[in-house]
Amino acid sequence: MQYFDSTTLLYLNGQFIKATDAKIDVYGQSLHYGYATFEGIRAYNTHNGTRIFKAKSHFDRLQHSCERASIPFTWDKEELIKKTYKLLELNQLKDAYIRPLVFCDAQMSLNAPSTSSIMICAWEWESYFGNKRLNVCISSYQRPNPKSTPIDAKISGHYVNSILATTEAKKKGFDEAVLLDMNEHLAEGPGANIFLEKNGKLYTPSLGHILPGITRATIIQLCKRLDIECIETALTAEDLKQADNAFFCGTAAEIVGIASVDEVKYTAKWADSLGATLQRAYKSTVLEKQNYEVII
Ligand code: PMP
Repeated sequence: MQYFDSTTLLYLNGQFIKATDAKIDVYGQSLHYGYATFEGIRAYNTHNGTRIFKAKSHFDRLQHSCERASIPFTWDKEELIKKTYKLLELNQLKDAYIRPLVFCDAQMSLNAPSTSSIMICAWEWESYFGNKRLNVCISSYQRPNPKSTPIDAKISGHYVNSILATTEAKKKGFDEAVLLDMNEHLAEGPGANIFLEKNGKLYTPSLGHILPGITRATIIQLCKRLDIECIETALTAEDLKQADNAFFCGTAAEIVGIASVDEVKYTAKWADSLGATLQRAYKSTVLEKQNYEVII
C-alpha cells in the first residue's frame, strides 16, 4: 500500500511540508522505545461536505494519551482540528483516514522529555477488514496489564502486543485475533473493540483493560437511540463462542462482523443481527444522515 506520493503534504509542528521531505531523528525515544502516542481518525464525504467524525473526541484522547505517558502536549486542539481540515483540502481528500502522531525528539535516556513534536498525515483507506465477516481465534497473547502501562492511552509501544497477536492469528490461518486480559476476561481485538449478541441483547467488555474506543462509545449511544439493551460487563472467551453473533468496531475497521471463533461458527444470520442494524446506523451517523433506522 502506498501512503503518499511526491505531491502529498503532511503537517509537522505548525507547517505543511511534503511527505517526501519529512525527516525523523533516528536517535529518538519514539523509534527506539515505542514512546509516542497517536490517533486514528476518519473523515467522511457527507452531504454537508467533508466531515471529520468526532474530531474533538480524538484530539481529546490524544492529549489524554500524552498526559498518561508523560509526553508534553502543548498544542491548541481547536487549531489542530482546523489544520487537519486544511491538510485534507491541500491533499484533495474527501474520504480519508487521518493519523496524528506525537513523538519525542533525540534522547537515548529513559527520562520523560521536555519537548515533543506533532505530525498529522492522511490517506485514502478502505474499511480496514473490508466487508467480509472474520474468522477469529482467541490469542495466546493477553492485553497488557493496566498496572504495567496505561492501557487506556493510545501509546505506540502497545501495538507490539497487537502486531504479535495479529501475526500469530494469521500464521494459524485466521483473519484476526481476539485478546483476553490478565484475568482471562474478554478484552478486545488488536486494533478494535468487541461486542457480542446473545438472546437479543448486546454485551461488551467494561472499561479497565481495554482502549476506550470512540466507536465503542458511539455504538453505546446508538443502542440507547435504537432501544437496544447494551450491557458493559466482564465476559469470557466461552461467552464469545456461545454468542449468537459478534462484531469488532473501531475507527479503521468501522463495524465488521465475526463469522467464527476458534472455528466455532455462528449459526444465526448476520443480516438479522444487532450488529448489522448498528452497522447501518453507524454509517448513517458518520455520513450525517438524519434518518436512523427504527426498530419496531
Ligand atoms: N482497541 C484498540 C487496541 C485500538 O487500537 C482501537 C483503534 N483505535 C480500538 C480499540 C477502537 O478505538 P476507536 O473506536 O477509538 O478507533
